[in-house]
Amino acid sequence: MHKSSSSSSFGPGGLDLSQTFFNPIPNAAPPSPTKRHTKISVVGVGNVGMAVAQTVLTQGLADELALVDAKPDKLRGEMLDLQHAAAFLPRTKIHASVDYAVSAGSDLVIVTAGARQNPGETRLNLIEKNCALFKTIIPPLVKHSRHSILMIVSNPVDILTYVAWKLSGFPANRVIGSGTNLDSSRFRSLIADHLDVNAQDVQAYIVGEHGDSSVALWSSISIGGVPVLSFLERQQIEYEKETLENIHKEVVQSAYEVINLKGYTSWAIGYSVANLARSILRDQRRVQPVSVLARGLYGIDGGDVFLSLPAQLGRSGVMGVANVHLTEEEERQLKHSANTILEVQTQLRL
Ligand code: NAD
Repeated sequence: MHKSSSSSSFGPGGLDLSQTFFNPIPNAAPPSPTKRHTKISVVGVGNVGMAVAQTVLTQGLADELALVDAKPDKLRGEMLDLQHAAAFLPRTKIHASVDYAVSAGSDLVIVTAGARQNPGETRLNLIEKNCALFKTIIPPLVKHSRHSILMIVSNPVDILTYVAWKLSGFPANRVIGSGTNLDSSRFRSLIADHLDVNAQDVQAYIVGEHGDSSVALWSSISIGGVPVLSFLERQQIEYEKETLENIHKEVVQSAYEVINLKGYTSWAIGYSVANLARSILRDQRRVQPVSVLARGLYGIDGGDVFLSLPAQLGRSGVMGVANVHLTEEEERQLKHSANTILEVQTQLRL
């Protein structure tokens, strides 16, 4: 399988035209020794993995993309289907294999493998199944890419990011969960709709668990640089706390709604993860809410817990966590979210 994953029938053993097709440039310098080659691996080629892979390809984020899954036929089918689009995409070498060796030398490994939520099932229900799966996935990934950054997407994402951190032995800055980057984008688009502005001008974070106990940071929302709540209060404009709560509820419910309607979510998470990949691999140093080791931050002291906080992302992974001012209520909710995750985590045997 690994061998047959080459994207071309030309080359070793085939028809090599490279020497005759082009005229050589006399006295050409050898290629620069600077390593500019970027490799992304995606583990799990289901709905989410393929949405991530296709966004990575269309946005030209990697020179090489490796796909890994446990189902060889599905894997090869997806690989060929993507390779057949080469004429319309930035050049990317695509490989696929059930053998983790295909992921060797990755700069970024994105893990989307795992059982997904069935309609009506909470994310936390998935924990036992996906935890067992991670014990078979993380060690071979680490063996083949010791210096990579791990991005976990499989749910429950915060707990599985903790599991991946433990199993990998990587420093915490190189293990990141896609966390509430997606929830925050849903949040921004709902606020934008509500106020009839562009979502890109809305700065707003959902933090904490990617799930039911997530926390909306209302006190720090700004639009075009104007802090929204303090502006409304200064102008003595009445707003209903319930309206705000309903917007947050809609964010929490939105994944369930999409799952009920189409059976799974894929496009928004694909864009969200590709956006994080860009921040990391292009060293963008953007501040994005992702799942990071939160112990000791914002008064979280119950143990090693991963949850989303606004983190600065760059080539080394998590570069730092922003010091956003939280109201007492927001801090209380964040601690509650941390405890919700920790309660489940303590039942795990790793
Ligand atoms: P899916 O069932 O379509 O795909 C899962 C893939 O994982 C399958 O192709 C399966 O063959 C593969 N797989 C299973 N065991 C494997 C193994 N041992 N090694 C390699 N591959 C293996 O599911 P999906 O809709 O793509 O969802 C994947 C995960 O992403 C789920 O856990 C889901 O809950 C999660 N998810 C997370 C977010 C988020 O915001 N964090 C959003 C959407 C989905």
